[in-house]
Amino acid sequence: MPNKDSILDAARRHAEEIVAPNVDRWNISAEWPRDASDKAGEAGLTGLYCPQEWGGQGLGVGDGIPVYEELGKADGAYAFALSMHNICAYATCGFARDSFKTQWARALTSGKKLANFALTEPQSGSDAGALRTEATINEDGSYTVSGVKAWVSLATEADVYFVVTRTSAAPGSKGSAMVAIPADSAGVSFGPRYETPSYRFLPLAEMVLSDVTVPADHVILPPGKGLSGALMAIDIARVSIASGCCGLMQTALDTALDYTHGRNMFGGTALDLDGIRWMLGDVANELEISRLLYRKAAGLLGTDEGALAAAHAKLFVPDAALRAANVCTQVLGGAGLLAPSGLDRLSRLAQMLKIVDGTTEIQRVVIGRSLVKRAKERASSKNGTSDPQQVA
Ligand SMILES: Cc1cc2nc3c(=O)[nH]c(=O)nc-3n(C[C@H](O)[C@H](O)[C@H](O)COP(=O)(O)OP(=O)(O)OC[C@H]3O[C@@H](n4cnc5c(N)ncnc54)[C@H](O)[C@@H]3O)c2cc1C
Repeated sequence: MPNKDSILDAARRHAEEIVAPNVDRWNISAEWPRDASDKAGEAGLTGLYCPQEWGGQGLGVGDGIPVYEELGKADGAYAFALSMHNICAYATCGFARDSFKTQWARALTSGKKLANFALTEPQSGSDAGALRTEATINEDGSYTVSGVKAWVSLATEADVYFVVTRTSAAPGSKGSAMVAIPADSAGVSFGPRYETPSYRFLPLAEMVLSDVTVPADHVILPPGKGLSGALMAIDIARVSIASGCCGLMQTALDTALDYTHGRNMFGGTALDLDGIRWMLGDVANELEISRLLYRKAAGLLGTDEGALAAAHAKLFVPDAALRAANVCTQVLGGAGLLAPSGLDRLSRLAQMLKIVDGTTEIQRVVIGRSLVKRAKERASSKNGTSDPQQVA
């Protein structure tokens, strides 16, 4: 029976042997490396949180999330895509009806089929409640869905998309459902691929849904649960991203250590200079903090404190990763600007990871909300009033 240590070893080997040596080539060809994700499936990395009876590894979410730190050492966009797939597989095993599970669960946990979430729309990113995609529920329970999704990762490559849709004109999350839409359903099409300066192997595009009808058993979360379920999934995604960012920081730091240790200057090496050591010491310090943050958050997912802990991790860690990549570039001098150092790629990945699955600013919104709640609780516990003049 696989355990978390053997899965971590498998992730480390996959990152070192399959991703790191090939990622530059993938970025040039701008194609999703399906052979690599097939190998990730063979290594047990595509069904982390699913029970073994469905071909998964049966890990708890907290135990599975460090996998992305290993994958993130090689590439954060690859780690991100696999993390989204794993969350969809988890939703399938945890929430789908048996007939859907029978059709899809083993295909997803084995990595033979890939999945992704489609929540964002052209007019609604951070303001996810403003989504416009709408489903009509037919008499036989099937759903007919129309709308446009934006920023769909693995666009054209995934075999099934977990789409969040309204089922009525009610605003916000009321009536929102999550529906699995196979890529080959009639009425599914994709817009032109987005041009990105890096992580080019990750296909991104709009997905257009024109009267796409799926059977009732493709409803993963019923009306009223779609957006809230997606936000719970996004909490897992936020911590997964923070985990991947720690891998990115470790790679940036190791690149800087290797270079400065071998770079002779002023009668010694660059690493003999206090100024360089202090810069890298700060990177190492923020990496330690980042690991503590994401591991704590991973352990709290699924509890009342999970969303806030995920926000703290997603706020701090991708930002720290961007600082790490930039500081390490600076430490290499001109060599840090050259493609073989890989540092420019890491900076661009960190910037992307600051945006996806809830921007840095949105994490401040989540944390700010919890502070207001605390302030109100403190005020009401003192003299039963919320008037700051009276409680002072
Ligand atoms: C590489 C990549 C892959 C992605 N993959 C997927 C995917 O597979 N599926 C999917 O559904 N989505 C995906 N996304 C979408 C992603 O989650 C959104 O880009 C993100 O939620 C931000 O939305 P937006 O880009 O529309 O920015 P906007 O929401 O328009 O935000 C613009 C700016 O305003 C700021 N802002 C927004 N609200 C506030 C506020 N209340 N207070 C202060 N500042 C605020 C933001 O932080 C940001 O700086 C992906 C994005 C990227 C970059």
